Amino acid sequence: MVSRPDATLHLASLLTQGPGSASEVEGQGLLEPGEALLESYDLRLAEPLAWELVVRRAGGEDDFLVEGRVSGSALLECRRCLVDVPTDISVSLIFPMVYKPGQKELVLIEGVEDAEETLSFGDPSVDFTELLLQLFAINLPLTVLCKESCRGLSLDGVNLNEHPDQETKPQKGTEPSPFEVLKDFDL
Ligand SMILES: [Zn+2]
Repeated sequence: MVSRPDATLHLASLLTQGPGSASEVEGQGLLEPGEALLESYDLRLAEPLAWELVVRRAGGEDDFLVEGRVSGSALLECRRCLVDVPTDISVSLIFPMVYKPGQKELVLIEGVEDAEETLSFGDPSVDFTELLLQLFAINLPLTVLCKESCRGLSLDGVNLNEHPDQETKPQKGTEPSPFEVLKDFDL
């Protein structure tokens, strides 16, 4: 599948009543957002994001439901040695959608008290890129390790996984610490 810089669904057939109207519109693709957009979410991707979405009618004339999933691999820095660690996640989503003719962009409206968050759209061609990026970004782990036994960096910034000999060792002949004796105390 060819990756695209957007994740647009064309909902015109859902919005018309009568002949030619659809009860759902689905789509999937590979999303490769522009650099500026990725930067605004502080995201670096190892590969394009895979997404799938389906929008269905939900009762009322202007009420719909979108359901789907976005998954992919982000590059996060190991918290000890700072190398890039590809981090895979998959996020499922489900939101009510309301059609508000004339509104330009897709907007996520915060739920007040117990109400659900709702998506509001006004253009029959809806680009879900920012929603997918936002959900993907907030579900990434805050920190990662390249491996549990990562040795981190030396004080000089050398990666000790690659150069274990660079680890700062106590020098021979240095005076023992005045606190050395404490290690034998049973506290
Ligand atoms: Zn590491």
